[in-house]
Amino acid sequence: MKSNVYFIDLRATARENFPAKLKRLMETAGISKVVKKKDLVAVKLHFGELGNTAFIRPVYIRKIVETIKGLGGEPFLTDANTVYAGTRSSAPRHLTTAIQNGFAYAVVEAPLVIADGLMGRTETAVTINQKRFKKVYIGSEIVQADTLISVAHFKGHELSGFGGTIKNLGMGCASRKGKLAQHSTVNPQVVEEKCEGCGDCVLRCSQKALQVIEKKAVIDSKKCIGCGECILICENGAIEIQWNQAIPVFLENMVEYTMGVLKNKVEKAFFINFITDVSPACDCMPVNDAPIVRNIGVLASTDPIAIDQASVDLVNLEPALPGTCLTINTGPGEDKFKGVYPEIDWKIQLDYANELGLGSTDYELVRL
Ligand code: SF4
Ligand code: SF4
Repeated sequence: MKSNVYFIDLRATARENFPAKLKRLMETAGISKVVKKKDLVAVKLHFGELGNTAFIRPVYIRKIVETIKGLGGEPFLTDANTVYAGTRSSAPRHLTTAIQNGFAYAVVEAPLVIADGLMGRTETAVTINQKRFKKVYIGSEIVQADTLISVAHFKGHELSGFGGTIKNLGMGCASRKGKLAQHSTVNPQVVEEKCEGCGDCVLRCSQKALQVIEKKAVIDSKKCIGCGECILICENGAIEIQWNQAIPVFLENMVEYTMGVLKNKVEKAFFINFITDVSPACDCMPVNDAPIVRNIGVLASTDPIAIDQASVDLVNLEPALPGTCLTINTGPGEDKFKGVYPEIDWKIQLDYANELGLGSTDYELVRL
């Protein structure tokens, strides 16, 4: 059976501005079936790394908060800490970054709670008994919440091709241990002929796993956690992974974690994707390159797989914007994410999620 995915574009009128349209989207897509009175509602989003500006605007989040409160729920905004050095690697840093990026109470009208605590160790083991993991480790505050509203910024991603709801849940809700477990199969190598020894990757590596020896970068595989940051930072493309082996496993890991996040949220989870500022890489980067397609709109659904499938289809239907990093697959109908990351088969995350019964890639797009 096809899952409904509801869609609004960004057109607005004097009668209905965009926040009002966003509320109508959530109501039509059935948020009232998921949020009940007195529910503690985890609104899982990405506050953006400091320096990134592509994350979802806080004023949109306020409308989501207002809608949840209108249903009698008690919302809090949440994300889990990162494994790499940066501005969100502990709760104090993470909260400070969130507020600096505009997610202050005065703006969003909801408290911020870091899902996995001070240092990313406040976790709950969830048993899933799947082929890659028997147990997954999720930020405890998300597990304990009555209801989960995922609000994902849909964009490109350096390891998963695109990042949407599955990424927001599987990687985004995992504790530090959970994130490390998912990344453990990403084993980057330096291609010596391409390396100029500039040292940019050394500065970016949180684990001090990289050094430049005799003008070539060298990775200490014992220290490397497979976060993939160095791959993106190297402008020469001198750091590579075994894409054919590492990426399918990484994507399956992420999907199994998504399963763990949703395990105790049957009929208590709701998903929203913003296809706005579709930057080529993750909001975890302290920078965002120009969007590869125009701002398309917002989707909502109770199916976490259908919403990502619909989002990727809408992006790929668009012509690429001129003057971006996307130089191939630029025409309407061509795969934009393959254009940015030719080695990554993003479809694996959708197919595996389908196989695990997390939702369906078969959907009906309902335009409001
Ligand atoms: S950033 Fe690239 S070119 Fe520079 S040292 Fe690292 S691998 Fe070599
Ligand atoms: S070497 Fe690269 S992938 Fe490994 S920890 Fe450092 S930045 Fe991350």
